Formats: sequence, structure tokens, C-alpha cells
Amino acid sequence: EQKIVILGAGQAAGTAVVTLRQMGHEGPITLVGDEAAPPYQRPPLSKAYFKGELPEARLYVKPAGFYDEKNVTLKLGQRAVSLDRTGKAVTLESGEVLPYDKLIIATGSRPRVIPVAGADLDGVMVLRTLEDVDKLQPLATRGKRLVVVGAGYIGLEAAAVARQLGLEVTVLEAMDRVLARVTSPVISEFYQEAHRSAGVDVRLNARMKGFVGEGGHLTGVEMEDGEVIPADIVLVGIGILPNQELAEEAGLTCENGINTDAQARTSDPDIYAIGDCANRVIVQYGHRGRLESVHNAIETAKIAAASICGKPAPALDAPWFWSDQYDMKLQTAGLLAGFDRAVVRGDMSARKFSVWYLRDGEFLALDAVNMPGEFMAAKRLVGKGVRLDAEALKDPSSDLKLMIA
Ligand code: FAD
Repeated sequence: EQKIVILGAGQAAGTAVVTLRQMGHEGPITLVGDEAAPPYQRPPLSKAYFKGELPEARLYVKPAGFYDEKNVTLKLGQRAVSLDRTGKAVTLESGEVLPYDKLIIATGSRPRVIPVAGADLDGVMVLRTLEDVDKLQPLATRGKRLVVVGAGYIGLEAAAVARQLGLEVTVLEAMDRVLARVTSPVISEFYQEAHRSAGVDVRLNARMKGFVGEGGHLTGVEMEDGEVIPADIVLVGIGILPNQELAEEAGLTCENGINTDAQARTSDPDIYAIGDCANRVIVQYGHRGRLESVHNAIETAKIAAASICGKPAPALDAPWFWSDQYDMKLQTAGLLAGFDRAVVRGDMSARKFSVWYLRDGEFLALDAVNMPGEFMAAKRLVGKGVRLDAEALKDPSSDLKLMIA
């Protein structure tokens, strides 16, 4: 029986364990993770869990008893520090050496550190782990002043929850629109407005200098023009970096993430990479890329498990993502990079609409706000080379089914 070692105990790793056992792998599995918790879902950390509406138990991929039951060895609170590909073994910080037949690297990603003065003050935080949000939540009480640095999905979701909890919230974004890295101007403008109407001070083209404090505690954010925005809490959300160093040092091919093939294998056929840390093949678009989503974590985990068990690869789904802010559920199907036309369908003022991204008349991707039906329909079209008539699409009374047929 093959010995499997999995590095990282996040969503991708958790799914890999479940799928390996489902597919009949009976050999030993060891899961190594540097966090204290067994695999859990991160999305609620900036949504329902932060808001206090979801109990911790609901975050876990599987209940604690599952791993024992399935004969999986958990090594939590332990970091893997080196990988010896010739000897096929991983060394942990404790000095323990774990031999493997197949290794799955699922080390995820980490928040980018902001290179400014005061970043180490008490009160300057990030939102990645359960521990992070457990530290943030007791401080996030009514009347406190929160400054969010970076208007990505996580920053904006946290801003929305904080407003709902009664905090004063400022969002600082260096670019000229929110969500600039991940979506189109029409969606950016919609979310800017939604946050402003909820009372968030959204500042675009913001030039931040650093953080100021007293006695080691944060008191404010200093701007380049000398203004100091008073703050009790700063949440830095300026993107993530893949945890690829272990793989890189072992000589595996890495670009932005650890390069993998269609079977989730790295440049070493006995080593797989899945989830946020992998630079995978995105079949629907015929190129590779690194995706930061639950869908990607789950799908790549299943691909790796199938390959290890000698089973057919699972059916692939289009890349998809979601974000919850206030009363708005955004769902994204596909990747919009390269679009030349964004067609809005529905009623933006009623917060119920979709945006269809086309390139040369061909459907690329969709953003849907409170329109799950359109999201489901569009997801099936991703990568199929479907041509859509923009004028017909705009007309909300036009029947999507007929248009696509
Ligand atoms: P991770 O979940 O990051 O797990 C990797 C684990 O490996 C971590 O615990 C890490 O500490 C550990 N590790 C790293 N290096 C080592 C080492 N050397 N030794 C041992 N352990 C190590 N996606 C969506 O699709 N929708 C959402 O709404 C959404 N919301 C999100 C909200 C938040 C606040 C965050 C943080 C993420 C969100 N995401 C969302 C993204 C999604 O959660 C990630 O894409 C997903 O968690 C990736 O899973 P992963 O297993 O690859 O990595």
C-alpha cells in the first residue's frame, strides 16, 4: 500500500483525504498542518462566522472523529521545513522525518505583508485563519473604528460585516476602483456605491504612508499628505502569495505557484500540488493559472486523488467563486480576463442583475448579483465557445434558454 503524505491541512488537503478514502485508497495517510485546527472552510471567516452567525463546528470540512475513523494520522501545529525528493521524505520542524510514496502539497497561500512603518503595531491584522478572526472578532464592537487596507473581496466582506456590527469603517484602495484585480469596472462601481450607501468611507487612489501608534498600540493610519485617519483596528487585505518555497527549494518547477499538469502532478510524478499553491491547467481557457477559490481547492484535490488511485479524472467544472456582502450574493462563473464587452442584464438598482462578459461576441464569464439561476446557466456555457447576441441579452424579457440554444 502506498504511503501518502499531505502537506498543509486546509480545504484542499481535507478534500483530498476524503476523496482518497472514498476512492478506495487503504494505505496510510498523514496530514501535516501548521495551524492548530483540522481542515476547515475559510469563506465564512470574513462573512457569517465573523458576524457571529455561524458556530465554529460548522467550519470544519469533517468532524474531528472522521480522521481517526478513517485511519488518517493528523500532525497539526507542525510545519514541514524540507523536502528530499531523492529519499522521498519530508522533514518537519520537530526533526521528524516522514517518508512517502506519493506527496500532495496543499500548502495554500499567505497574506501579503504590507511594507510600511507600524505594520507590527498591535491592532494591525490580517484575515486568513480561524485564529486571525478569533482575535479580530472580540475587538470589532459597536463604535470602534476599522480601516480596511485593500478593497479585494475579503476586505470588502469584512467591511460589510463590520458595518453591520456597528463599526465606523474606512476602506483605503490604492487603485482607482475597488476589486480592480478581480472584476470589471461595472461591478466595482456597483460595490463602491453599495458600501458608500451603507456608510463606509470608501477612498480610492488612496496614498497610505504607514500606521501610527502609542505604546505599541495602533492609533491611526497616516496618509502621504499628512492626514491621520484614527483607527482602533486595521485589516490589511492586499492579496496573497502562494506557499511554494518548499517545492521551489526541492527543484520543482514553479512560476506563480507550483506548476502542475492536467492530473495535478508537479514536475516530479510522485508529487502533486493542489489548491491555492498550484499553478494548474485551466482547460476551459486553454492556459494555466493560479486560482484562489474553494471550487479550485476541491476540484484539484479530487483530480490528484483520482490520479493516485488510478481512477478516471472527475468531470471538470468551470472556475467559479462567490462573495457575500450585505444583502448581495455575488456569483462568478468563468474568468473574465480579456473581455471586450460587458453586458448588463437586469436591474442594478434593485440589486438583482448579471453582467455577461464577451470577447468578439463569444461568452467568457459572468458575474451575477442575487441571480443564482443565471449563474447556474452561465456556468454550463463557460469554455464552450458560445456566441451571444449582446442586444438580445440586454433585454431582460428575452429568454436566455432560446438565446443559448
Ligand atoms: P489553505 O486553506 O490556505 O490551506 C493551506 C494550509 O497549509 C494552511 O493551514 C497553511 O497554514 C498550511 N501550511 C502552509 N505551509 C505549510 C507547511 N510548510 N507545513 C505545514 N502546513 C503548512 N473562496 C471562494 O471560493 N469563495 C469565497 O467566498 C472565499 N472567501 C474567502 C474568505 C477568506 C477570509 C479567505 C481567507 C479565503 C476565502 N476564499 C474564498 C478562498 C479559499 O478559502 C481558498 O482558496 C482555499 O482555502 C484554498 O485552500 P487550500 O487548501 O489550497 O489552502
